[in-house]
Amino acid sequence: MVGRYPTAQLLAVGDGRYLIDCGEGTQLRLLEHRRRLSSLRVIFISHLHGDHYYGLFGLLSTLSLQGRQEPLTVVGPPGLELALTTAAFHSRMQPGYPITFVPIDTEAHAVVYEDAQVRVWSLPMRHRIPCAGYLFEEQPRRDKLVKDKLPTGLTPAELSQLAQGQDLPADPATGRPAVAHADVSVPAAPPRRYAFCSDTLYTPELAELVHGVDLLYHEATFLHGLRERAAQTHHSTARQAATLAASADAHRLLIGHFSSRYKQLDAHLQEAREIFPWTELATEGLVISV
Ligand SMILES: [Zn+2]
Ligand SMILES: [Zn+2]
Repeated sequence: MVGRYPTAQLLAVGDGRYLIDCGEGTQLRLLEHRRRLSSLRVIFISHLHGDHYYGLFGLLSTLSLQGRQEPLTVVGPPGLELALTTAAFHSRMQPGYPITFVPIDTEAHAVVYEDAQVRVWSLPMRHRIPCAGYLFEEQPRRDKLVKDKLPTGLTPAELSQLAQGQDLPADPATGRPAVAHADVSVPAAPPRRYAFCSDTLYTPELAELVHGVDLLYHEATFLHGLRERAAQTHHSTARQAATLAASADAHRLLIGHFSSRYKQLDAHLQEAREIFPWTELATEGLVISV
């Protein structure tokens, strides 16, 4: 349907750029929204249904044509590497940059990736084929120094020591007394967390794994009137997504992956908000900050 593209989300944390799923047309959408493909660091794929990864081969090829040399990590279910390398072999495509595939156990809740910005866990989904969601947790930020509380005349080295959380001993040479880090800083905000729950049957046990997240994305393919159809096809309803958000004590909920049978999405929003008022629709081009 026009205006309803397959799944892809771009997550920005500090200078890290992470792509979550890569349905057909993802690279064109990213260009339309003026996101540079070259800044991508890692791509997370939830499962091998076409609406979640058919755009990946094209994206990887484009990065090569653009002369990318920086390594790229691709995290996803087993089989993803074979699917891509088979396509690459038959089209004689040889990427000009190293790609590291990280096959994950889609039934486990485990750390699957970590760098200076984020730590990422897999979330077991229940779908027709192996499928994982991902929980992104920002790395702890440093406490912030409060300018007004800092003694004057500190050297850059002393400042950086304080910024790193260390105390300064007294300096007999200048007569400066000891400086305790806790006295000159305010604690950093707790790390922000984002959970991406891809195609799945309603799975109440997920609430425990994503408890207290700042933002929860959950699929809501159907309205509750079609809950039997949802169960048959291993999908969820808007009401189920909202119920999960409520029991997980999430701060906000984003619902998406709507069946093309629905021309309007007002009913999805209403159904979810009856249970969880802090719900938004994941629509094309939506930018949301956490
Ligand atoms: Zn699927
Ligand atoms: Zn899907």
